[in-house]
Parts: sequence; structure tokens; C-alpha cells
Amino acid sequence: MLLARVPPNHHSIPSVARVVGFLSDPSLARSLHGLSLKTPFATDVFVLTSVLDMYAKCSLLKEAQKVFVEMPERNVVSWSALICGYADAGLHSSVLHLFRSALHDGVEVNDCTFSSVIRVCAETTMLGLGALLHGLAIKFNLDSSPFVGSALVSLYSKCGILDSSYKVFNEMPERNLSAWNSVLIASAQHGNIGTVFNLFEAMQAAGFQPNYVTFLCLLTACSHAGLLDEGKRYFSLMPVYGVEPGPEHYAAMVDLLGRVGRISEALFFIQSMPIEPIESVWGALLTASRIHKDANTAAFAAQKLFEMGSRSPGMHMLLAGTYRAAGRHLEAAQARKAMRDSGLRKDAGLSWLEAGGVIHTFASGDQRHGRSVEIYRVLEEVGKRMEAAGYEPDTSGVHRNVRYHSERLAIGLGLLVVPEGVPIRVMKNIRVCNDCHTAIKYLTKCTGRVVVLRDLNRFHRFENGTCSCGDFW
Ligand SMILES: [Zn+2]
Ligand SMILES: [Zn+2]
Repeated sequence: MLLARVPPNHHSIPSVARVVGFLSDPSLARSLHGLSLKTPFATDVFVLTSVLDMYAKCSLLKEAQKVFVEMPERNVVSWSALICGYADAGLHSSVLHLFRSALHDGVEVNDCTFSSVIRVCAETTMLGLGALLHGLAIKFNLDSSPFVGSALVSLYSKCGILDSSYKVFNEMPERNLSAWNSVLIASAQHGNIGTVFNLFEAMQAAGFQPNYVTFLCLLTACSHAGLLDEGKRYFSLMPVYGVEPGPEHYAAMVDLLGRVGRISEALFFIQSMPIEPIESVWGALLTASRIHKDANTAAFAAQKLFEMGSRSPGMHMLLAGTYRAAGRHLEAAQARKAMRDSGLRKDAGLSWLEAGGVIHTFASGDQRHGRSVEIYRVLEEVGKRMEAAGYEPDTSGVHRNVRYHSERLAIGLGLLVVPEGVPIRVMKNIRVCNDCHTAIKYLTKCTGRVVVLRDLNRFHRFENGTCSCGDFW
């Protein structure tokens, strides 16, 4: 068209901008913006919005922001494009700030804007704000949108309130594939494996074809429940639906094989992968070899992780723990030294709890919280009852230097501030250790409280002395 000397206009530029956004090609994006500046439509709101959206989709957020700020006028699409761009880049506070400005300026926000902001609340587990947005969505008559609905399903699930996820899903007047995937992920992460399989059937009956995410979810569910045959069946079903297995599906399969103790089969599976294994594939093998006390395979997996330049302190600790458990103390010491030498901190674990609209964050052995004295007092007091009920604190290994890991402190605050009858919801950025897992089971038995703990991999719902994961995590 350009060669035929047809000048680009306010119709053709946005169309091309959309395509460049899909391709996510920064240099094409800059060229197209440059070209648009030479046309009479350089300040047209639709042209500028399409350029802004294109920049956001190419991860050129500075450029997107500049276009936004310099636009003579903005519409809801301009606001949404920048909000979505920030959300995709994980710039959570920018999303919230911009959304507040949009509401303040009286912009007629749409379902795309709402779903982006609700997704941010889900990622950061800000239940209070998320629920407020749910209310606002109802007020703006946007709650029937499948985009808003899917985001709400994820929000409630990630905040540990699965009932609300199901309620939102069941009441959705219109569902899209993303809504089905959201509810599948929610069920899998909370260990409702039967529900996952039933929903998968229902989803197909409703005319939806499973995609990449759907299968990842099915495999994760099988892995959490240790269902090897089902996992293999779903994995082999992928090509039938035209879905190419990606690195995450391979990682889920390795995790599943490892969980049921098929360590050598898992290793063979990795070696026969048609694509290069990613870090989480070796990580799954390392975790499994540790659980099944196979120090040789653990060392092999760890070696691969080191070669890939893994900076995860969790992996190094896992390796040291495996050697120690196998009685190979020299190698355990070497693994700890390698970690220190690389400047990684031993315990990067953090836990947090939302109370009164504030996120309270704790590190292990933390004494910085304003109510620290009370928190330790209540934990000691409950601890006495736990020990009377048969709990034996682990005074070796992991708890040598600190009395309480971070999640225990967060739960301690929960005992003080969360009303009776309301579950104490705590999030943690790494896997929960054996001792804390046991301790929390006793804590719920002795206090009658329910604790919902999200760790790196899944949700644990502790109630009356047992955990929903069935001690398998
Ligand atoms: Zn712990
Ligand atoms: Zn558990």
C-alpha cells in the first residue's frame, strides 16, 4: 500500500498497530509510530490509542506511558491499554494508581480494565481490595462479563476462598475458555481432584476445546494426587487436541513420576524429551529424589541446575538436605558452602497475612512486627497445648537457628486479629517445611481454628488436625 503511494490514515494505522502488537516486535512498533507522526492523524485519539496499545503489547512501557501522557484526549481504551500493559509487566502499584486516577477522572471503565486490576489483586492476594472491586464491578454492571468473572474466580482461589470462586463461576451468565481454565486451576491448586476431572468433562460438554493451560491444569491435578495412569493418559491426549506439550507440561510429568517414586523413569523421561528441559524440570526431579532419598539422582539434577545458573536458594537447600539425609555430610557441607559463596541467603522465606487492609509480612524469627511480643506469647501458649497433644518440635536441622519459621509468625498474628470462625489465610513464597506442616496441623486441632496456607506449589487447608494435601506436597 505504501509502495502504491496510498497514504496511511486513521483506519489503516490502528489495524497495522494491532498486528504489530500481536507480533510484539519493538522495532516495527517504533517505525509505525514514526510513520503515523508524519500523517495528519498524528494527534487522532484512535490512532494514538492504537499506538499506545501496541507499545504496551511490545513491553515498551516507557513509550506507552509517554504517548498516554502527551495525548490531547483519552478514551477508556487508552486507559485500559496502559493498565493492561502495567498488569502484564507485573507493575502492580502502577496499575492500582492508574486505575484510581481513571475512576477519579470519571472515565467509563470497562470489563477489560476491571479484569486487569482484579488480576493484580489476585497476584498480590489483596482480598480486601479485590472484593471491593467485585462490588464496584456489580455497580458498573460489568460482573456478567466472562473476563471479569474469570479474574474473580482466580482472585478468590488465590486468596484461599474456594467457595467464592465456585459461587462466581456457577453464577456466570456467559463463560469463556479462560473462565473454565480459571476454575480448573482453582480446583487443582486446592486439591479438589475429582472436581477437576468432572469440570473437564463439563467443559467439553459445553463445547470448549482444552488448550495449553487446560492440560497443564489436569497434569498438575494428577501430580498433586499422585495419579500416574491418569496423568499419562492426559499427557498422551494432548496431540489429539492439537496441543503441543510445552516445557511446563514436561515439568508436571516429571513431578508426577517423581511423586510416585518412579525416579529412574522420570530421569529417562527427561532424557527423551524432544525439547530442552527448563529449570523447573530438573527442580521437580531434585525435589522427588530428595523425598525418596535418592542422593545420586539428586546430585545429578542439582548439577544440571548449577550448570543452568540456577539462583534459587531453595534448590541449594534441598541438595544440602538430601546429602545430609543420606549421611553424606561432606557433600552437604560443600553444597552449603557453594550457596554461601554464590551470595544466596539461606532462608529467603517470607509469609504474609492481610488484616485490616494492610499486608503484614514476616521473615523467619522476625521480631520487627509492632505486636511481636504478643505474637510470640500466643504461639508459646498454644505451643504448650500442642505439645500436650503429642506434637514434638523439631529442634534439629531447620529449626536450629530460629524458633519459628515465617508462616508460624503470620499465623500467630492471625490468632490475635482474625475473628473466631474465620479462616486464617497466610501466603508463603517457598515450600512449607515438614515441621511447620506438622505443627500447624496440631495448632488447628488445639485451637479449633482453620488455617489456609498457600505455599509455592499449592494450598494447604488445615482443619482439626489434618491437611487437605494429605501430607503429600
Ligand atoms: Zn518451617
Ligand atoms: Zn498440607
